[in-house]
Amino acid sequence: MKLAGKVAIVTGGARGIGSGIAKAFASEGANVAIADLDYEGALAASMKFGESAFAIKADVSIKIDVETMVKSVIKKYGRIDILVNNAGIQTVMPFLDLSRKDWKRVLDVNLSGAFLCSQSVAKEMIRKRINGVIINISSIHGYIPRSTKLHYDVSKAGLIMLTKETALELAPYHIRVNCIAPGIIDTPMNQELLRDPEKRKMIEQRVPLEKIGSADDVARAALFLASDDSSYITGAALPVDGGLSLNYNGLKPVGSS
Ligand code: NAP
Repeated sequence: MKLAGKVAIVTGGARGIGSGIAKAFASEGANVAIADLDYEGALAASMKFGESAFAIKADVSIKIDVETMVKSVIKKYGRIDILVNNAGIQTVMPFLDLSRKDWKRVLDVNLSGAFLCSQSVAKEMIRKRINGVIINISSIHGYIPRSTKLHYDVSKAGLIMLTKETALELAPYHIRVNCIAPGIIDTPMNQELLRDPEKRKMIEQRVPLEKIGSADDVARAALFLASDDSSYITGAALPVDGGLSLNYNGLKPVGSS
């Protein structure tokens, strides 16, 4: 059991990638707090893991929610070893039409949420002298530009720098901070796009490993970064994208048909 005795918080853990990470951590012995805007979803997800999980309603963009989340995990389990900043939202809008409201909401959830959770949890880890782990879920679009998702992509680029700078500042406390940059993963966030068989096939053809990723693909990388298997890694951004970021312009790799 790679995470026996550990306590983890997974934000946005009610479904999709977060739910996959919660499952992977619980199956390796961790107690997992599933924090989500969607309390019913978090409760349903937590019930799959019996005693080793519990649900918390929290909006990661609201400081008081984050503080209450941290307090309730401490009250239940007495410690926090792992934080996964996974909660995220996206909307589609060309730059020239993007409203201040949409810009702010996406940045508030995706970037400020990770900042608030990291700060609050890191203080607890330091107070209890825990060699903790923080994992941020960014995206390959934190470094590959495209159209109509400027606000989302800027938030994901910010998460990569948040990872590097918090890794530096928290290293003296033996807290490691890394991030995962997923490519296209089959989750409810992408449901509309992937439901269309033609679009799905087009996407699959652009991925060098010729398939769309699953929440379990990301969860296995998160498990690696959460466990002692990665004990000398901090400040890294790990792509989990089947090679998509190597081939984003859609050219087939040399030698392929
Ligand atoms: P998802 O299926 O939409 O799940 C996201 C979860 O986060 C939902 O349960 C959602 O609750 C929750 N959430 C949203 N806003 C929140 C907030 N303010 N506070 C707490 N929870 C909140 O998304 P996903 O595809 O699993 O994505 C998970 C993370 O991976 C996101 O950060 C996303 O940007 C990133 N990512 C995903 C992909 C992909 O292809 N799927 C690729 C790269 C990166 P509600 O249902 O109530 O909104």
